[in-house]
Amino acid sequence: ISSKMKILITGGAGFIGSALIRHIIRHTEHRVVNVDKLTYAGNLESLAEVEADPRYAFEQVDICSRSALERVFAVHQPDAVMHLAAESHVDRSIDGPAAFVETNIVGTYTLLEAARAYWQQMPSERRTAFRFHHISTDEVYGDLHGSGALFTETTPYAPSSPYSASKASSDHLVRAWHRTYGLPAIITNCSNNYGPYHFPEKLIPLMILNALAGKPLPVYGDGRQIRDWLFVEDHARALYAVITRARVGETYNIGGHNEQANIDVVRSICRLLEEMVPDKPAGVANYEDLISFVADRPGHDVRYAIDAAKIQNDLGWRPQETFESGLRKTVRWYLDNREWWRRVLDGSYRLERLGQGALS
Ligand code: NAD
Repeated sequence: ISSKMKILITGGAGFIGSALIRHIIRHTEHRVVNVDKLTYAGNLESLAEVEADPRYAFEQVDICSRSALERVFAVHQPDAVMHLAAESHVDRSIDGPAAFVETNIVGTYTLLEAARAYWQQMPSERRTAFRFHHISTDEVYGDLHGSGALFTETTPYAPSSPYSASKASSDHLVRAWHRTYGLPAIITNCSNNYGPYHFPEKLIPLMILNALAGKPLPVYGDGRQIRDWLFVEDHARALYAVITRARVGETYNIGGHNEQANIDVVRSICRLLEEMVPDKPAGVANYEDLISFVADRPGHDVRYAIDAAKIQNDLGWRPQETFESGLRKTVRWYLDNREWWRRVLDGSYRLERLGQGALS
């Protein structure tokens, strides 16, 4: 793999995609083309530090549009694709599954076909080096039911939510395009990410921002559901290790060995806020008093936990953050970057977008 690739990244205006692009522009000499539709979850303000870099380009494109993708491949001539664009929020997938089927399944299919047509006509040397890296979730494996087991790369798929079912479908399509057409694909399945620039509907930023505003901290059910948390910048480093060094056809699980019950995550956030923001909102004696248990999410998986031994052994990747150090950095980031999340909360991040139709 050359040290100066052009990498087409879908979903680069999202939480993980923007961390990946910041990582690549900061730490490597590669070029990046960010292909993103800019749904509510896409925020170009997360890419402020790279937008003026000549190695970065942005294309506002829907991955369900074959003709738009063909134009992007023809114009940019990428050496690799890293596919992160997706509808990603489980609760939204329960209320409205259509967009998940459309983007995660049909969009991945459309991208695979556009990539295959492009790859087949590449000169043979570049064709051999081409990579299609599909970024997926550990939720495709379903539920560990509180047992001591971990998800490995050979755990059978058993998705529970419309979100995880749509991601499982997309994984199957990518594997089939590799087996059937020889497309040089790699898949990674990662555990829950957290860190800076996380959209405030997700658990950790929601709790931080609600606590700062003196609002209730809603915890599903009894809060005993266990998630395995990974700091987003550790995920970005793992993805970079995979796209540059992994063998074609492989699957890697990525996780931080940081299993936490949801209620403990919320309590840890409260403790960090007690330390960092002792001046609490009016009427709040302790942040923990704001915790309020709400009806559980339907189909809620009890436990996810990843065995990341393969990527550690094959590629030497290890997370740099513990949950404690990563959570501390995350809370600090939300305290120091109020402008970023205020503009998300009041919707103004959507008003200054490039192109038309961003508000539709
Ligand atoms: P996100 O919701 O923050 O970002 C998704 C991005 O995709 C947004 O910028 C959005 O505008 C874009 N997008 C959505 N539909 C599109 C379409 N039709 N065409 C083009 N762009 C479109 O998501 P995220 O948390 O950054 O997750 C990125 C990927 O990683 C997803 O594939 C997700 O399934 C996977 N993943 C996420 C986690 C996690 O904890 N967040 C864990 C494992 C895997």
